[in-house]
Amino acid sequence: MTASTSNAPPANLADIPKTHKAAVYDKPGSLSIKVVDVDTPEPGAGEVLVRLTHSGVCHSDYSVMMNAWKALPFPTQEGQVGGHEGVGFVAKLGPGLESSPVKVGDRVGIKWMSAVCNACPACLHGRDAVCANGKISGYYTPGTFQQYALGPASYVTPIPDGLDSAAAAPMLCAGVTVHAALKKAEIKGGQYVVVMGAGGGLGHIACGIASKGLGARVIGIDHGSKKAVAVESGAEFFIDFTQTKDVAAEVMKLTDGLGAHGVLVLTASNAAYGQAPTFLRFGGTAVCVGIPEGDLVPIASASPAALIFKELKICGSAVGGRLDAIETLDFARRGAAKTHYRTAKLEDLAQVFQDMEDGKIEGRVVLEL
Ligand SMILES: [Zn+2]
Ligand SMILES: [Zn+2]
Repeated sequence: MTASTSNAPPANLADIPKTHKAAVYDKPGSLSIKVVDVDTPEPGAGEVLVRLTHSGVCHSDYSVMMNAWKALPFPTQEGQVGGHEGVGFVAKLGPGLESSPVKVGDRVGIKWMSAVCNACPACLHGRDAVCANGKISGYYTPGTFQQYALGPASYVTPIPDGLDSAAAAPMLCAGVTVHAALKKAEIKGGQYVVVMGAGGGLGHIACGIASKGLGARVIGIDHGSKKAVAVESGAEFFIDFTQTKDVAAEVMKLTDGLGAHGVLVLTASNAAYGQAPTFLRFGGTAVCVGIPEGDLVPIASASPAALIFKELKICGSAVGGRLDAIETLDFARRGAAKTHYRTAKLEDLAQVFQDMEDGKIEGRVVLEL
């Protein structure tokens, strides 16, 4: 882990330049990034201008750059600025924010949903991460791979004191995602939760929040090469699925024959989904998070009889909302949610995506802006 010392606002926060540095997708559909000067925008009514100091780089940014997600309504625009794990300082308030709790100099984050409508069914349920009219940062709106970005004062995430900006950035996406999933599984202290993909980018944070944050007993499942990071992050038990003939039997053995209270499926693997319900005890919940690529495959072991007689639940969870983000950053501040990361420069972004494509990134890369 690389330490950063940039928790204080830049000295020149009030001097807002006419243009600033941004990394743009100059040829969406291919791995290509251009670092250019763009006009620094004026915050509109209810908006704040954020002087970003850090941005995490997420695999979803890669997918947006490559136009890999057919579910998005239109191809990524040429010249779009990507990024959705931004941390920085409020540099200017737009009109109408005289009585807003957000002030110039506050440290805030911009996450996957940069703005939401507050009126659709998802928003009314407090599930603003899947707002029907939400603006995905770095796809609909210029994202966080730049020095200045806009966000609604009511929707930027306050970053707690005592948490490093670079460490906070990945929490805004990966951390929020696993915390929201653990909430849907309703995991409480002393309960067993299985984390599938325990050593991955999401999984190791889930191990930390579940064990150190919630006091749960974590059974991590992953490739043996990921054991160290899973255990170090908080997995009490670890199952190497490549060396274990009957993973479900192993989960039963570890849970006194009863099964786990919850399972988080963080891997994008249909095989993992096929096993997940078989790990559950009576009344347990399996939460779907990783999205398998290719053909749509039903969850193999989700037969009605199995669900009925054990009263199991299977649900999905997409990123997380504003409350999830605030709670996740509090876990991070207290050291329960931690992520491995290294820092890089904005100019290195193309190489970071190349490393991502080649599977060479451990944990996260955080850009210093
Ligand atoms: Zn992300
Ligand atoms: Zn909405």
